[in-house]
This record gives sequence, structure tokens and C-alpha cells, in this order.
Amino acid sequence: MNGEILVSVVIPVFNEEPGLAALFARLYPALDALRVSYEIILVNDGSRDRSAALLKDQYLARPEVTRVILFNGNYGQHMAIMAGFEYARGQRVVTLDADLQNPPEDIGKLLAAMDAGHDYVGSIRASREDRLWRHFASKAMNRLRERITRIRMTDQGCMLRAYSREIVQAIVASREVSTYIPALAYTFAHAPTEVTVGHEERAAGESKYSLYKLIRLNFDLVTGFSLVPLQLFSMAGMLLALFSAAFVVYLVGRRLIVGPEAEGVFTLFAITFFLIGILLFGIGLVGEYVGRIYQQVRNRPRFVIQAVLEGSPKQAHETAAANRANSRLSETD
Ligand code: UDP
Ligand code: MG
Repeated sequence: MNGEILVSVVIPVFNEEPGLAALFARLYPALDALRVSYEIILVNDGSRDRSAALLKDQYLARPEVTRVILFNGNYGQHMAIMAGFEYARGQRVVTLDADLQNPPEDIGKLLAAMDAGHDYVGSIRASREDRLWRHFASKAMNRLRERITRIRMTDQGCMLRAYSREIVQAIVASREVSTYIPALAYTFAHAPTEVTVGHEERAAGESKYSLYKLIRLNFDLVTGFSLVPLQLFSMAGMLLALFSAAFVVYLVGRRLIVGPEAEGVFTLFAITFFLIGILLFGIGLVGEYVGRIYQQVRNRPRFVIQAVLEGSPKQAHETAAANRANSRLSETD
């Protein structure tokens, strides 16, 4: 792997055993066809199937262009990409999902856009092959995000993207814990653009995102990049407080002029419950931000790497053996 590497391709892998063979069969020829120096960084995000073993086999098959990072557990897609970024040596870094939903053959399109002077190339899925509810949900989220952050992305869900070395370094240096990499990258870019790429149904296996995980991701996307929800909440709280104050004045006046009353109690209940609902939502919202601060100030490592397979396999075996020897030494201490 001598000389300058032009492109690093970073791929997060989580329980992708059924699809990895098909991925490798298309990815390597697609990159070879570009006639640029490249490396492929495969990050195993704590898969519970045989993915790690398959990655190792692939590394042994193409050690000169393949590097494998093995996490000790599951830290999520974006932390896997973050680790790939830390290790990437290329002038440009491309991220791709392992499930072949985006064709690796389109990597050339992203690089062409970078040749034209862009430092961040996003992507738009030509025709989405996902569940209908995900389509609508992501449209709605897109619109909300466009309103409350300065991030402009036509299609936030597509991970086939290319970043310049400078942006990747800025992302790694930002030390964020739970983040959404395409959005973070956008905030660091000076000439972002988007290209249209193909999109297919998952070749094998199933989506790793449950509805719950998707909602969490979108919270990260909003609370990680904007204070508008908090500000809106305090504005709404202020209006409601004014309204409540007027209501109290009215009820007191009524009590003095018309006399006591028991009717209308349930109306009061309704109003109270409404206000309590808003209050609870507000506490939850503040909690989201406090949670982010908590994660950040703990200052724990963002992920723990168990092993890195790189260089010539012989060397790698030697370092692994040395590591084992080291750990034996420290155990006997
Ligand atoms: N992924 C990961 N860690 C996770 C979840 C997903 O590394 O906790 C990887 C997964 O292997 C795939 C990519 O992230 O390469 C995107 O996941 P998926 O295709 O399931 O998401 P979807 O296309 O349904 O949004
Ligand atoms: Mg997918």
C-alpha cells in the first residue's frame, strides 16, 4: 500500500453475513475500474453473526487494499463510520452501506463531482425502494430539519457520500458522541453538492433500523444541530403563561361578580391536563439536551476497538501474537 491513496471507502458492517459476498464481488471490480489508488476500510460494529470472520477472510484475500476494524460491541452505524474516518488515509473518503442498496459502481459519480471542486458530495436516491411509511416519515423529517437547522440535504437517508480529507479531519476532531455524520460534514463543507445515485432493495438480510432507532436518530439530527426546539418551547410556554394569567383574572372577576360556581369544573380539568401535557413534553425535551451534555462530559472513548487487520497478513499475525504476549504479561502482573 505504498504511495498516496486517493480514495478510502468506509463501510460499517452489522450482522451483514448474508450479503457480504455479493458486496465484495461488486465493490472491488467497481473500484479497480476507476483506476485510482484506493483502500477499503470495513468496520465490524459488533456483529453477532459470522460477519467478522467473513471480513477477516476478505482481508486475507486482498490485504493490499483492505483494512478491517473490529469493535468489541455495537456502537451504531455512525460511530462505525467515525472509526473508519479515524483510520482513513485517502485524500477523499467515501461512505457506503454494506447492504448494496446503493450501487458501488456509482462511487465514480461522486469522485467526478469532487474533481469539479466540491468538498462534500451528498446523494439523492433516484427511486427509493423502501417501505412506504419510511418514505413519508423521512420526507416530513427533512422538512422539519430544513426549517430549524441550516443543513440543506435533499435526501438525508442515503449514505453513499464523499468527503474531502479536511472535512473528515474536522469530523474526527469534533469528538461528538451521538451524531449524524452527513449533517455534521455539511456544517464543515464550503462547496457542498449532491448527485443522484441508484437505489435498490436490500440485497440480503434485513434493515438494522427499527422504528425506535429511527426516531432516536432523528432526535440526534435535531437536538444535535439546533437549539430551536428549546427556544420554541420557551416561546410557547411564555404565550401559554400569559393566556393562563388572563384566564385566572377572568375567573376571579367572575367569582366576585357572579358568585361561586361548581359547573365548568371539567373544562378546567381539560385545560389543566393540556398544560400538564405540554409541561411533560418540555421536560422530556430538556432531557434530550441534558442527555447529550451528559454523554459528552463523561468523556468516555466513543468506541473500543478490539483489533485492526491491516498491512501484510504476516505482519498482522505477528502484531496479534505480540498483543497476546503483552496481555499475558499484564495478566501476570
Ligand atoms: N449498521 C451498523 N451498526 C448498526 C446498524 C447498522 O454498522 O447498529 C450498518 C449496516 O450494516 C449497514 C448500514 O449501517 O451497512 C445501514 O444499515 P441498514 O441498511 O440496516 O439501514 P437502512 O438502509 O434500513 O436505513
Ligand atoms: Mg440499507
